[in-house]
Amino acid sequence: MTAEPVIDAQPLPPAAEPPSVRASLSPSRAADFKTCPLLYRFRSIDRLPERPTVEQARGTLVHAVLERLFDLPAAARTPRSAGDLVSPQWDRLVAEQPELATLFAEGDATAQADFLRSAASLLEGYFAVEDPRRLEPAEREALISAVVDGELLIRGYLDRLDVAPDGALRVVDYKTGGAPREAFEARALFQLKFYALVLWRTRGVVPRVLRLLYLKDAEVCDYAPDAEELLRFERTVVALWQAIEQATARQDFRPRPSRLCDWCSHQARCPSFGGTPPPFPVAGGGDPLTDARSRPAAPGADE
Ligand code: SF4
Repeated sequence: MTAEPVIDAQPLPPAAEPPSVRASLSPSRAADFKTCPLLYRFRSIDRLPERPTVEQARGTLVHAVLERLFDLPAAARTPRSAGDLVSPQWDRLVAEQPELATLFAEGDATAQADFLRSAASLLEGYFAVEDPRRLEPAEREALISAVVDGELLIRGYLDRLDVAPDGALRVVDYKTGGAPREAFEARALFQLKFYALVLWRTRGVVPRVLRLLYLKDAEVCDYAPDAEELLRFERTVVALWQAIEQATARQDFRPRPSRLCDWCSHQARCPSFGGTPPPFPVAGGGDPLTDARSRPAAPGADE
């Protein structure tokens, strides 16, 4: 399948935070709470470190290549050009995040070469579903945000925003994970609706299409939201935030085991797996409701 051509439009205006903003929430962190309140606590309140996985690193790398691919003139956006970007982008990522180098045993050039090849193979999946020579994205890896309910800032990085000549918006999200799709599809759609809500609230336009590109399977999943649905979704997000506030006040974040536990880094501390969570952090200098727990995940980091 080849996507229809989409022409560039006005870049998104920078979003200012009104003084009434009291808290912020990203789709990744909101989805964490929905998936498992204890996972939310571990990631956002305890801020327990998570060692990057090869799969997450591959996702970050492929996202970086696809972002840079659109820096090239349209005619040059070929599979070979994308392949040529893999190694330099990996070097750049490792320079910025040295912990990525620890994914491979020192001197194990074979493992790293296999890793780079697997990223190139996902890019082949991309070219099977889209022709980037026919696209001029309006935004790539853009941080977008909006205030809902008068005081909650919702924000996140979208992979790509296409704007058609008639102003229609298409939000595109690249999925590179190798995990069974059904385990993550609801989370992916939640994330896309989050972006759709932000765009609707900031631009007054409901995106025409929310598109998931599954690179491993070379498949496209399109979803068309409507205003009524986004209104309901907005209420859901606000209710979710209120539930997070209540759980924080009670210091009560319960585990909710599911298939996603297989991908959780915190099983050793999870009561559902015989572990014990650390003591609830004492509020420090900053306001716990506006701190880093709502920091949006970088593109590709949430695969
Ligand atoms: S292992 Fe499962 S239940 Fe426990 S914190 Fe992780 S996702 Fe939640």
